[in-house]
Amino acid sequence: PLVLGIETSCDETGVGIVRGTELLADAVASSVEEHARFGGVVPEVASRAHLQAMVPTVHRACADAGIALTDVDAIAVTAGPGLAGALLVGVAAAKAYSLALGKPLYGVNHLSAHVAVDLLEHGPLDEACIALLVSGGHSSILRVPRVGGLELTELGATLDDAAGEAFDKVARLLGLGFPGGPLIDRAAREGDPAAIAFPRGLTGSRDPAFAFSFSGLKTAVARWVEARERAGEPVPVADVAASFQEAVVDVLTSKAIRAAREAGIDYLLLGGGVAANSRLRELALQRCQQAGIRLRVPRPGLCTDNGAMVAALGAQLVAAGATPSELDIPADSAMPIAEVLV
Ligand code: ATP
Ligand code: MG
Ligand code: FE
Repeated sequence: PLVLGIETSCDETGVGIVRGTELLADAVASSVEEHARFGGVVPEVASRAHLQAMVPTVHRACADAGIALTDVDAIAVTAGPGLAGALLVGVAAAKAYSLALGKPLYGVNHLSAHVAVDLLEHGPLDEACIALLVSGGHSSILRVPRVGGLELTELGATLDDAAGEAFDKVARLLGLGFPGGPLIDRAAREGDPAAIAFPRGLTGSRDPAFAFSFSGLKTAVARWVEARERAGEPVPVADVAASFQEAVVDVLTSKAIRAAREAGIDYLLLGGGVAANSRLRELALQRCQQAGIRLRVPRPGLCTDNGAMVAALGAQLVAAGATPSELDIPADSAMPIAEVLV
């Protein structure tokens, strides 16, 4: 099926077009620069930017894909989770397109879409996989019987900060700017990941195997930097960035691989904005190879928010004969992770 996907859960207005698992267009308009001076996403600013970018981005995606809007078989949209006002813009637009074109609407889960996008990169996967979903708002280990299917189980999640949130907070305290993930990634390349032994949260033998905690790590970094400053010594930004990043990706990869081994699952899939991290991708590959697990991770541009991931999930649901959403679905800012389609 030819599916148009709309994503507006945060600060990216994404419109993607796919045919089955083939990516035809992935147009993204970001308002990130408008938020940078506030040090974080301002919901009202994001909503207004979505409103301005929505229609031009749809037209750009259609032009890129070489299709007319009337060609599409279905409209998929992120129904949640995310910023309520931002989601509303995408959901309202998707309903309007659905009604005007007479094509079914699929209101889907943003987190499932972060997982499903891998199909566009690596094609169908007919086996169960473990998905490590790491983003600005979530850090979870999921058991996914079929990528793009309606069932998934969360084996564990963060008890406090999400991995991306930790990257953003540590970047801020290092004075690197916003959003922090890519900036830490870059700074860390010049640093020594073994320079500072930052704590690995929840890795004790009595700790929950698949849960994460990153707020203690963030505090440890803050204390370390403060101590340096109090002593009047310069802060070795690259070493702090590299050591912090190593602590995060060490825990993420070891727990995800353990989940795959314990479940007897041969595939690990990475998704979400933090999956764009170069060290996470490198260490995951190294450890998967050691464990005999196949790693699937989309290119960085498909890990961060985009419309193609929503279209990819929509296309799977259409192909599987899932019941379309009603035209009066709400935007659900707290949509549960296991609810794939509303
Ligand atoms: P969610 O998907 O949980 O709703 P979100 O959509 O806001 O949250 P994403 O766009 O999926 O989040 O991911 C954004 C996060 O990814 C930010 O925290 C950002 O710092 C982080 N990120 C992006 N690139 C990198 C990178 N190279 N290294 C580490 N983190 C990164
Ligand atoms: Mg973003
Ligand atoms: Fe996201």
